[in-house]
Amino acid sequence: MPRVAVIGGGIIGAAAAYHLARQGYGVTLFERDQLGGGSTGRSVGEVEAQYAEEDAVSHRVFSLRFLERLEQETGRRLIHRNGYLRLGRTDDALRGFAESLRLQNELGWTGARLLDVAEAASIVPGLCTDGISGALLGPHDGYVDPVEVTDLLVAQARSLGATVRIGHEVRSVTPGPSGVELEVGAEVLHCEVAVVAAGPWLDSLRAGYGAEGRIRNERHEVCVVTLSQDYPDIPFTMDYLPGGDVPGIYFRLEGPGRMLIGLHDEGSTATTVSPDDWQTSLSDAGRDAIIARFLEIMPAVGATAGFLGGWAGLYPFTDTGIPTVTWAVPGRVLEAVGFGGVGVQLGPWAGHEVQRLVASAVPK
Ligand SMILES: Cc1cc2nc3c(=O)[nH]c(=O)nc-3n(C[C@H](O)[C@H](O)[C@H](O)COP(=O)(O)OP(=O)(O)OC[C@H]3O[C@@H](n4cnc5c(N)ncnc54)[C@H](O)[C@@H]3O)c2cc1C
Repeated sequence: MPRVAVIGGGIIGAAAAYHLARQGYGVTLFERDQLGGGSTGRSVGEVEAQYAEEDAVSHRVFSLRFLERLEQETGRRLIHRNGYLRLGRTDDALRGFAESLRLQNELGWTGARLLDVAEAASIVPGLCTDGISGALLGPHDGYVDPVEVTDLLVAQARSLGATVRIGHEVRSVTPGPSGVELEVGAEVLHCEVAVVAAGPWLDSLRAGYGAEGRIRNERHEVCVVTLSQDYPDIPFTMDYLPGGDVPGIYFRLEGPGRMLIGLHDEGSTATTVSPDDWQTSLSDAGRDAIIARFLEIMPAVGATAGFLGGWAGLYPFTDTGIPTVTWAVPGRVLEAVGFGGVGVQLGPWAGHEVQRLVASAVPK
């Protein structure tokens, strides 16, 4: 019997399996489809620390350091370090940037700096600076290929002894006095602790262990355009402040001559859909909304860009809107869910948090 079963092979489940296996737990990871085939594979992969609350910064710094260690351990280059630039339009935003800087420095994650409008415009050629009052640049931030990281974490977990069952759907999770019963296809398996990391599909398992609340899956779209002239590898540029209730635009290069553009918010405004019935391609309305916002902030670049394509993906949120690693059934069923639009950058931290909580309930 595996001591711990992890349900879901997105970045959260993969990180949980890795951290548990590394600490010597017997782990089995169940993925019903393919690793990274859920929200993880539809992400744009930003890993960054440009937040203004202590936990938000420290969890992200943990993840960045973890990824750096993984790069050293495996000899693979995982992070494309083009930096992350958060634009500010109010005095409050600039105060938040100063606080972020203080928190990052306190954690020893140094290098971030405040930019005035002219510096921001020089880093992002063509940026319309109307209404912008400053920016925060994290030069060591960047983006990963989230499926590559997921695959790597699972491969590492496997080499540390984890069992990985791909194409195996867990149909129910039922806790009892001596452990947890899992229905997997025609099999009934037992484990001591189940970690549910099913992302947008969590609701389908909650009935079995009696947890309340519902996952709200917001549909977000990404558009890719071709650029008509050479353009530098700018930092990921984000015109949104965490907590804001109006979606903000973001963009970065997606390889030479291509720019990826999307609208982001952290839980409130995008359309909510069923995870089993939604349009996975970019809609015409979505494309038009993204391009209209792009033309406002990057008018010259946008005017000569050509539409190439895009896709949609889900941000899974819990009722609170806060990413959660918590016991749904104490000592038996642990949920790691609700990572919305930030699960890639929080994944390594979330996996570690899973391991910490499991260790508190089931000592080695
Ligand atoms: C357009 C877009 C852009 C994004 N950009 C970023 C970004 O730049 N930075 C960032 O940090 N985050 C970003 N995100 C968010 C990030 O992708 C998610 O928060 C993260 O991938 C969630 O990971 P997860 O493991 O919880 O879920 P998923 O990746 O959805 O994984 C859940 C897995 O569970 C499996 N599963 C479900 N039910 C079962 C079952 N019963 N049995 C077995 N397996 C099951 C599924 O098949 C799936 O593979 C973005 C998301 C989108 C959509």
